[in-house]
Amino acid sequence: MMRLPVSRVNASILGALAIFLGAIAMTALGLIWQTRQNALVDHESQAVRFTSGAVAALNRSFLGVDVLLASMDELLGLSQRGRNAINPKTANQLMSDAVQQSLLVRYVALVDVQSRVIASSRFADEQTTLALPRGFIETALGDVSSALAISGPALSTSSEQGVLYLARHFRLADGSQVLAVAELQIAMLTSVMVQGMDAGGLEITLERATGQLMASIAPKYTGSAGVTASPTDSAASRATAPQAGPFPWDPAQSVASSVQRLPARLSGEPAIVAAQPILYHELLVTASIPLRYALQEWSNRRDLIVIIALAFGLMTLIMGTLALWYITRVTQARQAMAQSKNNLDQALGSMASGLMLLNAADEVVTWNPRYVSLFPWAEAMLTVGLPFRTILEEAARQDMPQASDEERQEWISQRLSWQSMQGAIDRQLATGTTVHITQRRTPDGGAVIVYEDVTALRAAAAEIEQLAFFDPLTHLPNRRLLSDRLARALTASSRSGQHGAVLFLDLDHFKTLNDTLGHDTGDRLLERVAQRLTACVREQDTVARLGGDEFVVMLEGLGKTSAEAQAHARLVGEKILSSLNQPFRLGVHLHSSTPSIGATLFGDGQKDAGDLLKQADIAMYQVKATGRNALSFFNTTMLATITNRASAESDLRTALVLDQFELYYQGQFAADDRPVGAEALIRWHHPLRGLVLPSDFIGLAEETALIVPLGHWVLDAACKQLKRWESSPRRAHMALAVNVSARQFRQADFVSQVKSVLRTTAANPKRLKLELTESLVLANVQDTIEKMNALKAIGVRFAIDDFGTGQSSLTYLTQLPLNQLKIDQSFVRNIGLQEADAIIIDTIIGMADSLGLEAMAEGVETSEQRDFLYAHGCRLFQGYLFSRPASLAEFELQLDAITVTPRAEVTFSI
Ligand code: C2E
Ligand code: MG
Ligand code: MG
Repeated sequence: MMRLPVSRVNASILGALAIFLGAIAMTALGLIWQTRQNALVDHESQAVRFTSGAVAALNRSFLGVDVLLASMDELLGLSQRGRNAINPKTANQLMSDAVQQSLLVRYVALVDVQSRVIASSRFADEQTTLALPRGFIETALGDVSSALAISGPALSTSSEQGVLYLARHFRLADGSQVLAVAELQIAMLTSVMVQGMDAGGLEITLERATGQLMASIAPKYTGSAGVTASPTDSAASRATAPQAGPFPWDPAQSVASSVQRLPARLSGEPAIVAAQPILYHELLVTASIPLRYALQEWSNRRDLIVIIALAFGLMTLIMGTLALWYITRVTQARQAMAQSKNNLDQALGSMASGLMLLNAADEVVTWNPRYVSLFPWAEAMLTVGLPFRTILEEAARQDMPQASDEERQEWISQRLSWQSMQGAIDRQLATGTTVHITQRRTPDGGAVIVYEDVTALRAAAAEIEQLAFFDPLTHLPNRRLLSDRLARALTASSRSGQHGAVLFLDLDHFKTLNDTLGHDTGDRLLERVAQRLTACVREQDTVARLGGDEFVVMLEGLGKTSAEAQAHARLVGEKILSSLNQPFRLGVHLHSSTPSIGATLFGDGQKDAGDLLKQADIAMYQVKATGRNALSFFNTTMLATITNRASAESDLRTALVLDQFELYYQGQFAADDRPVGAEALIRWHHPLRGLVLPSDFIGLAEETALIVPLGHWVLDAACKQLKRWESSPRRAHMALAVNVSARQFRQADFVSQVKSVLRTTAANPKRLKLELTESLVLANVQDTIEKMNALKAIGVRFAIDDFGTGQSSLTYLTQLPLNQLKIDQSFVRNIGLQEADAIIIDTIIGMADSLGLEAMAEGVETSEQRDFLYAHGCRLFQGYLFSRPASLAEFELQLDAITVTPRAEVTFSI
């Protein structure tokens, strides 16, 4: 983003501010200068006026005095008489009269050259000497033109006041010279000069061009602020010269007044000084107006101008600061706006969802890149102001290619009407993408539309639903969905009165298939079963897989009565039975599988889904117990059976705790009837049922896993017995065979369990023989071989029990570290009865022989059987013929009673 040059804007404002302030300062200075000039010019002309007025008045006054003195000649007839001819009395009188007529002169005298008064306007002072300033008589007499002589200031001897003497000389008839002298009071003279004029600080002087001060008027200070000038006679005290020295008078400038900037004539302050000569004896009148006074008014004005300028400057400064502040704010606001727009653009750009912003007229305002990636066709047409309807029209073309024009218009108008609302919808695009559209109205009437790609989310949700409600292998409903449907079916049936049925189905021997051919094959079978089951029922029925090899079929609408429903359910059940009884082709194998089906009906109320499944399960269990591959309906007696089983299980647990088991022993004999060992067979001393045989509880122990602790107990008891027999010379050679059940053998720690028992009992492992069944060995051949080898390594021996009943294969027989095959008693029992079994016995013995294994016959009850077996090469026997299973004490008695007698060879032909 480009940053606005705030500093440059600020600099311009500051520059303008400086120019404004400069202009104000310049204007103020100009004004101040101008007004100062004006004030000075005013005062200059004022000074000139003063001097002109004073000069005119003085000229008049001095002229008057001059005329008075000049008139003395005629008045006293001086030029016709000698000195002595002057009658003082008459002269006095005449002079006194003349003085009376003058305004300025108070005293005139006629003096000789020695200043002796000849006559005067004051009587009786003849022959006194008039005290004239020194040199004045000489000056007056020296004036050949008999012009008026004017003295410097002096003190009057009569009035003690400052005076000037004005004189004119006359030559008497006797040739002597006299002077007519007039005494002029300086105070009178100054009032003539001032003529009532008044100006602040005005200093007026009458002085000679030589600088001698004749008379002056200085302002009378009344204070520092106001000055009033009133004429005072100060000439006497400062009779010599003004402070500023002689006035720089240009004699060429005879009459006109001159104005100069000089020190004031009296105070010496800088001042405007005007000067003009009067008519007599190079006397000058000066008027000084000190600048202090002349500029007093101006200085007030100057202060005002400065104040106004300052006020203006301040205002300008404030305005400038405000402008600066405002512009900074505006700039910052613009920057913030630009920043937020930038942020918005970035946010829009990085949004995972598409965004479209519309104005109140539903026209495009903005959109983001994600929108374009979701709808690439829109890129070319998108512009600001584009009507949203246009986009929808194109969207309809793109994403509804199959739809007719009417359908598209319908969709657009629906979409636009949705526009006016707030809400969210999902839309499937032609690309396969699912878009979740959320729209919100903005306060200004526009709209924000957010497009979120939810394809993966929806797929995951569908997958989750599938996983939650369907079995992943067969895609059939699972237990959860079944329970749900069952609950709904129950409600529907109680409303409609229609009965339904639940069929619980378990594949027989499925575990064996799984164990022998592997889980993949097992899975294939389950898939096929699912397909066949689905084919056996109607659309509205439910086939579910509960897990493992358990399936449930739910049938609805089977009829109003339970009899009718049962008949229908039976039909379906049998159809399923016959369908599943058909062999399955699983890869290369052709596998036959059968199901056990338990069924129960619903429709009479008072049952819940859980109960129904339990009942069907019980019925199925019953089928398992009674031979499998059949269909059975639940009845209450089944419940009793199940209950018995449950109590049996609990009894079995108690029996383990209370040690109610005992080992019986059945001898095993060689061909010469010599006992070679015994098989340990478990018995249960039930407190109520008495002695219980293994066939009644081993199965249950297997199912409930109680066989593990039980098997351990047997092994431990057998090994202890082996150890005890070791010390008896007659029994020390005896081997003990112990039956090991599949579940026990499959325990991961089976080998270490056996080793640990052998270790703790210290029994000889070579005397211990473990009997395994064919199905056990086959279930996981690799595991079996590893475990057998581990035990064989310490001397333990192995026999295959009930050999011939399972799916024997020569291949595994060769791989196993076996010692003995025990021919199943069913074959022995049929000796002489079924020819086929005789052949099997012969085969087994031959097989054992060729593999280097012992063959032992079980269940030998008759001597015929024994003889037949012996004739076919069997040299080891077990059965009632030799000894029945008995308690230890009895068994030992049996052993003690045996006397070995060699038997004659008997041959049988088959
Ligand atoms: P098995 O291992 O095949 O044991 C032989 C069975 O045949 C014994 O039944 C025995 O009493 C019986 N028998 C022996 N000779 C004759 C005869 O001449 N005629 C007839 N009719 N029967 C004869 P028993 O003791 O009832 O045991 C049944 C089965 O229970 C055993 O068959 C064995 O599979 C299992 N079993 C017994 N004890 C144990 C045990 O401690 N652990 C395990 N896991 N299973 C055991
Ligand atoms: Mg056995
Ligand atoms: Mg057996």
